[in-house]
Amino acid sequence: MKPQPSPERVFRGQPAAPGLAIGPLVRLLQRAAIPSATAESADVERRKLGQAVAQAQAELQALVAASDAMGAGILEFQLELLGDPSLTEPAVAAIAEGASAIAGWQAAIAEQAAIYENGDDEYFRARAADLADLRERVTMILTGEAAALQGFPAGAILLSADLTPSRFLSLDWRRIGGAALTAGSPASHVAMLARARGVPLVTGLDGDPAEQIDEAVLDADAGLLVTSPVAATRSSYADRLAAAAKIDRQARQAMGQPAVTAGGERIEVMINVDDPAAVSEDVIAGCDGVGLMRTEFLFLGRNRAPTEEEQLAAYVALLDRLKGKPAIIRTLDIGGDKPLPHLGIAAEANPFLGLRGIRLCLARPELFRPQIRALLRTAPGRALLVMLPMVATSGEIAQTRALFAACLAELTREGKPAAMPPLGIMVETPAAALAIDLLDADFYSIGSNDLTQYVMAAARDASGLVAALNDPRHPAVVRLITQVVRHAEASSKPVSLCGDMASDPALLPILFRAGLRKISVAPAALGRVKLAIASIGGGDG
Ligand code: PEP
Ligand code: MG
Repeated sequence: MKPQPSPERVFRGQPAAPGLAIGPLVRLLQRAAIPSATAESADVERRKLGQAVAQAQAELQALVAASDAMGAGILEFQLELLGDPSLTEPAVAAIAEGASAIAGWQAAIAEQAAIYENGDDEYFRARAADLADLRERVTMILTGEAAALQGFPAGAILLSADLTPSRFLSLDWRRIGGAALTAGSPASHVAMLARARGVPLVTGLDGDPAEQIDEAVLDADAGLLVTSPVAATRSSYADRLAAAAKIDRQARQAMGQPAVTAGGERIEVMINVDDPAAVSEDVIAGCDGVGLMRTEFLFLGRNRAPTEEEQLAAYVALLDRLKGKPAIIRTLDIGGDKPLPHLGIAAEANPFLGLRGIRLCLARPELFRPQIRALLRTAPGRALLVMLPMVATSGEIAQTRALFAACLAELTREGKPAAMPPLGIMVETPAAALAIDLLDADFYSIGSNDLTQYVMAAARDASGLVAALNDPRHPAVVRLITQVVRHAEASSKPVSLCGDMASDPALLPILFRAGLRKISVAPAALGRVKLAIASIGGGDG
């Protein structure tokens, strides 16, 4: 008998948020096409558009109220776009020329989206998704379509062209296995949301299984969608899923225990926090403190900097949740590849080598001072430590200390309680690692992500051949880490490592051999790292 041709097909994309899923493949309806609608009078169409925009604003406000800080930031950005007359005016002008509200709205969005899509910057190209989201939301209101977002079979893998942030936030991801997108990028807002929530996501698939598919495997670790998997494929992925579930269970158990090596040595495992709202209580309870709080989350996705009071509230809230455990809060590490459009800083040819981190903060004291004042006001009675990103020279630390001292004096004059916290540095430039003895810091935290890219001259967001060069295991990187740890020991200063390599169980022996006994890891990796530590002998790998 002739064997049946295998119906299995493999589509390749980019891994945007890791994880595996097996489940029914469900296609999300796309509403990007312009529905034909006959225009009534210009007055009627204008009123319809106005009402639809107002309803969309109300829906977004309700979603903001129900979201964590990262989700809310994204939706607030959409609310700002929607409130900007330069978005709605072209639609109103088209209506005056005889277009329907729907056609006018679609044309106005297309005009704006083209500006974003043709930008040089991936960040701005990714923001075109926010416009698509608004186009869809307002169009659905105008056409009167029901949201139709409910009723997926349990464990479904969603297939769509792109997924808009507000639609992502509207879905119940506890019931959905993951998503595969034929468009989109790992730098998009949706990818950020998926990573923070542990939703497996593949973007930019190289094809679309046009026919109806019953079952698929989503391998978001490798960036693959396998449709109608044959028995062998299915069972090998089912084995991987079962093994991952078993390790998850063990890791959840390990998370609540202190990290101790098989040789009985205690290792401090702290966590890196972006948006504190996305970190669960069991992770906060299981960690030895926060080894890195990236304060950028307070600044990104909005068109003004957070005030001193807003920052104070965020820092105090984190330390209160930690109940006496320490938190190292990093001053703003923005600029370069993470631009803040409202700062009006010119684009740079080499953003990673440009005005970022402490360089930008010292150049813009009006941005830095409110953060320094908020940190000084957080310090009294709390286990706060502050560290500076991207330090290359002793002068940068001296200037920062002078600014802290000036702000402290100012607060004292104003009668506001404040105290100077220990001031440490990220060791992430080769200059800082090589001349560590010249830097006046109270503690060190090795930023192996940036240190690797600068030592290896291979960008951290590189792909292909250059991505392989961005390897923290290279002896050049490991020697620098070892040298920094030795200097810290010799000068009795605390040292930890907060780059992504600490979250990779396979790399822990390298760090322990370098002498590190304190690390800071991604919240999602806490349990697995503790589990791996327990199987490492004597702390020497
Ligand atoms: C690093 O560079 O290793 C680091 C932890 O900082 P970030 O990833 O925020 O640049
Ligand atoms: Mg860094």
